[in-house]
Amino acid sequence: MKKLTEQISEKIKSEGLKVTPQRMAVLKAVYELNNHPTADNILAYVRKENPNVAMGTIYKVLDTLIENKLVKKVTTDNGVMRYDGIMENHHHLYCVECDLIEDYNDKELDKLLTDYFKKKNIKGFKLKNFVLQINGTFNKC
Ligand SMILES: [Zn+2]
Repeated sequence: MKKLTEQISEKIKSEGLKVTPQRMAVLKAVYELNNHPTADNILAYVRKENPNVAMGTIYKVLDTLIENKLVKKVTTDNGVMRYDGIMENHHHLYCVECDLIEDYNDKELDKLLTDYFKKKNIKGFKLKNFVLQINGTFNKC
């Protein structure tokens, strides 16, 4: 298997972007932190290796990665933006107690909803996909 850094640089290149140390570091942070980190989480992670990185740089790089479909924004109810490196369509289980977001994949649910809305046939609206935020609490909370 390829090393993570290699995979990351290939992803950046595949979007026609130049591979810069900042882009590498931010995308690596998103993948390694793995659980929908905030910009603060990403900054703290990147600073472990590059203590002088500024928050502004993190935001700038995140914007570029979002524009180029390498990272997705995840909004939560408390208004803190989170970031997701998994671009395939998936749902989120959101813990209202601890803010944890866990990925949730459920083909059966997707089919159910797609069939339902096909039948509903909302006027003037063409269905593409679903991204659900399923709110609740995890047992440990
Ligand atoms: Zn996710």
